[in-house]
Amino acid sequence: MEKITVIGAGLVGSILSAYLARQGYEVSVFDKRPDPTLHGALGGRSINLALSYRGWKAIDELGLRKSIEDISIPMKGRSIHQLNGQIDFQPYGTENEALYSVSRGMLNKILVEEVKKGENIKCYFNHECTGLDYRTNEISFNTLEGNLTIAANRIFAADGANSAVRESLSKDGIFNAVYEPLSHGYKELLIPAGNNGKHKIEKNALHIWPRGGNMLIALPNFDGSFTSTIFLPHEGDYEEEYNFSSLENNGIGIIGMFQDLFSDAIGIMPDFVKSYGPNEKESTLGTHYCNPWNFEDKVLLIGDSAHGVVPFYGQGMNAGFQDCIYLNNLINNHKGDWKTIFSTFSEKRKPDLDALANLSLYNFIEMRDKVSDNKFLLQKDIERYVSSEHPGKWTDLHYLVTFTDVPYSKAKEIGDLQSRIMESVMSEPDVDVKWKNWAGFRSNITKKILNSLEDSNQK
Ligand code: FAD
Repeated sequence: MEKITVIGAGLVGSILSAYLARQGYEVSVFDKRPDPTLHGALGGRSINLALSYRGWKAIDELGLRKSIEDISIPMKGRSIHQLNGQIDFQPYGTENEALYSVSRGMLNKILVEEVKKGENIKCYFNHECTGLDYRTNEISFNTLEGNLTIAANRIFAADGANSAVRESLSKDGIFNAVYEPLSHGYKELLIPAGNNGKHKIEKNALHIWPRGGNMLIALPNFDGSFTSTIFLPHEGDYEEEYNFSSLENNGIGIIGMFQDLFSDAIGIMPDFVKSYGPNEKESTLGTHYCNPWNFEDKVLLIGDSAHGVVPFYGQGMNAGFQDCIYLNNLINNHKGDWKTIFSTFSEKRKPDLDALANLSLYNFIEMRDKVSDNKFLLQKDIERYVSSEHPGKWTDLHYLVTFTDVPYSKAKEIGDLQSRIMESVMSEPDVDVKWKNWAGFRSNITKKILNSLEDSNQK
């Protein structure tokens, strides 16, 4: 049985290891953290992630749907909390379509449990990869017992956005890695459960308080709480008044910001200053690009180590799981020909992840600004109308990304075309009044949209 080494038993490393073991390889997985199945999932305040179609597809292929469904909460749409306290619900898809809020810690625990069941998988926790020598294929680790070096033939690096493997091969000039930091960072806050243990706001929704360059979101947890995330600029040179730098060590400033921007969240988050942690540093966000993703037939980056994106489309993990499906199909088609598998993965999959990086940056603007903008909401109404009157002709970009496995690059191409068409529609004088009141106008606009789609299909 051929031996494979996986660095990282996080979300993608676990799914990948399960796929590789099913292919009959002897898999050794190394992770710097302690074993999550022995030490329990992260308790209390825990990051939760939105799981969508692409992620579920890998989970289904591995037969894990039931155990993951048991720890996830469907979110059927966005609940937009307006500045005046009004809450508008915007469904994501049809009645049966939802994103699923799942705790990262619990998900990782279940996936590692699954990996440990594999007879041909060995897990090594508390093994921190410190470097990889591409000339000798030797991997160095820091372990509880001291330093360790092993030689490995086929190495998959699933060691996350700050990948030590990527770093090591970039230093040696094998990879060209670029990091583009975002102007904004984030902190996690907690909206505790109500006294009855129930959710204080709609459970089956992703909550957003969109305030331009400042934004608060919340995803539901099983215990009645919500994990909330606040996004602010790091520094004051951004146009928004509130930023992490000016709020550092400043309880009064934090109270002022909540009163100004998120007053309806104060009632449900009574300890918001403590939860914000005035003395704690915010986390950073950014996009990791790397080219290529492979070194010959020896090393392959996968998941965030290859393509860390900003989290605003909720797709990083989903994309990483889809990487595993993609790779598994390549292994099926070219079994044993690792050169073809690695180079095809790097060349053919990368354009999709470059597209996702771009879409994720764009969705930051949509989430923080547009979801509360009347013109944008009208545009979405028009799109929904065309889509329901002419099924199959118009599928919204968000839907393509979230509820299908259309390649991200194709989804972006369609989204770019839709934006151009809708820009022209929305520039019609008094479009809002006419759309609401005149059936003839609705019919003309619909024809215009369909004709534009037809024209572009013929080009
Ligand atoms: P990770 O999950 O980071 O796992 C890497 C693993 O490698 C870890 O177990 C780590 O311990 C291990 N490791 C790291 N370095 C070493 C080393 N040197 N040696 C050995 N082991 C090592 N994605 C979504 O799909 N939906 C969302 O809603 C979503 N929300 C997000 C919100 C935030 C705030 C952030 C920051 C990200 C979000 N993401 C979301 C992205 C998602 O978290 C990542 O895409 C996903 O975790 C990538 O999985 P991974 O296994 O590649 O990396």
